[in-house]
Amino acid sequence: MARIRDLLAVQRTVSFEFFPPKSIEAAVQLSNTMTELAHHRPDFVSITYGAGGSDRERTVDTVVAIERERATAAMAHLTCVGHRVEEIDALLDIYAEVGVENILALGGDLPADLKLGEVPTGDFRYASDLVDHVRADGRFSIGVAAHPEGHPRSESIQADRERLAQKLEHADFAITQFFFNNNDYWQMVADLTELGCDTPVIPGVIPLTNANQVARFAAMAGATIPGELATKIDAAAAAGGGPASPPVVQLGIQTALKQSQELLAGGAPGLHFYTLNRARATMAILRELAVPIGI
Ligand code: FAD
Repeated sequence: MARIRDLLAVQRTVSFEFFPPKSIEAAVQLSNTMTELAHHRPDFVSITYGAGGSDRERTVDTVVAIERERATAAMAHLTCVGHRVEEIDALLDIYAEVGVENILALGGDLPADLKLGEVPTGDFRYASDLVDHVRADGRFSIGVAAHPEGHPRSESIQADRERLAQKLEHADFAITQFFFNNNDYWQMVADLTELGCDTPVIPGVIPLTNANQVARFAAMAGATIPGELATKIDAAAAAGGGPASPPVVQLGIQTALKQSQELLAGGAPGLHFYTLNRARATMAILRELAVPIGI
């Protein structure tokens, strides 16, 4: 059973996110990472897609290779930005042919050169348009993105929640952007419940291993680093002599482990790890998660 919708109906899931490699060295690194993480028997792995199709070939090649060569189910990310219906259909055909059963339908990050007020070209404006299209295709279980702190482009958190609830009416599950305060996740789940939505929302967890990188990613994703955590990160970087020194890595592992434990204890439907194509931190967390989580 590789449809995430079906898995979530009977168990919690553990999943890993990777980005497609840009060089031979990066491909070897990713392959080694997947082999190491395979010991934890993920329910699925997901592969990101460059908005506007910039990673098209690399995403397709990576998804197809995983589906053909590994025992793990692959979920392909797909984005709206710049895409025509025919291009999306061609991708869906490739994926269906190799047995991919899960698609993460996303709005996509906007091109950097897009001017304020401009709408990107393409047949799909919002992720919900893509969800409807893939749903009509009929061959896939469909996931979407959720933003516990609200999407950075939303005019209000309330508006974002309402749109998320509408999007989830047609999707099978959501995966969240990473966050560091579990209250943001629980508040989002409560808001969705209030809106009559009980579609599973899998929390996304990022084990921070580099102080500079996490600050950059958080700014891009609209995720807040709580003041107390920021102080601890600075202290760990100073004590270890650098932003990626062992104390920072240890702090990242301990922070993500505690966050994961609390999410599972609170009833989250699974955990999705943003691995950044590295195995070490995620493996350390999974080794410590004493409670079997459905794998
Ligand atoms: P949407 O659901 O389209 O929402 C975007 C904004 O539009 C929100 O503010 C929303 O409130 C608003 N909105 C939605 N519907 C409407 C409507 N009908 N009317 C008015 N406003 C509306 N990006 C990539 O480029 N490639 C990836 O592979 C990728 N993977 C991701 C994986 C995960 C798990 C997550 C959480 C995000 C990922 N992203 C990726 C980032 C994502 O594409 C961006 O956050 C993007 O800016 C929004 O995506 P979305 O799917 O939430 O878009």
